[in-house]
Amino acid sequence: MGQNEEQNMSENQKDKLLLAVKEEVIKCQGCQLCKTRNFPVIGQGNHDAKIMFIGEAPGANEDKTGVPFCGEAGQVLNLLLSSAGLKREDVYIANILKCRPPANREPAPEEVEACAAYLLRQISIIEPKVIAVLGNHSTHFILEHFGVPENKLGISKLRGKKFAVQDPLTRKHYTIIPLYHPAVAVYNRHLLDNLKNDFKVIVDTIQAKA
Ligand code: URA
Repeated sequence: MGQNEEQNMSENQKDKLLLAVKEEVIKCQGCQLCKTRNFPVIGQGNHDAKIMFIGEAPGANEDKTGVPFCGEAGQVLNLLLSSAGLKREDVYIANILKCRPPANREPAPEEVEACAAYLLRQISIIEPKVIAVLGNHSTHFILEHFGVPENKLGISKLRGKKFAVQDPLTRKHYTIIPLYHPAVAVYNRHLLDNLKNDFKVIVDTIQAKA
């Protein structure tokens, strides 16, 4: 099924299409990271979520379990979700890269190039209202992909702002909201407060669209 046909899907169709993505990622040899990772981290959560969180790449804990945001940054994400009255089961969480870069180095451009199509398919299947992007790298990738001119600005300028976009291929509409990466708030109370406020922006956006 092409991206254009992935419209108005039932939850059952979404389950099948996401399973197909998962099976492809498990077999993927599109870049060198498949040789060093333990488990790919495909994504987790509600296949019909209104909010999709997008991180950068799995870390050591995620690589051991296959579960996104299950380490220290994940604890902060869980706290932020509950501060906004959300549960992990309500949302979908994925990363740009499905496999861990060794020693948590930054993703290489060819790794993003090889992997990002899986994430873009996940977005077009789940059809969230809000794409909440975590951190500088994920934000730049997503804003550039959707043709947002501000894509080169730093995360401190972009955080909590809303960008209404339409996917040029699928014609689907999304609101992108960049956020600080939860890892930066592990030891920084001020950034944690910023994140809590920005999570309220996400919830308000969903409620306004209901
Ligand atoms: N950081 C990320 O960006 N993603 C994860 O899954 C974990 C930590």
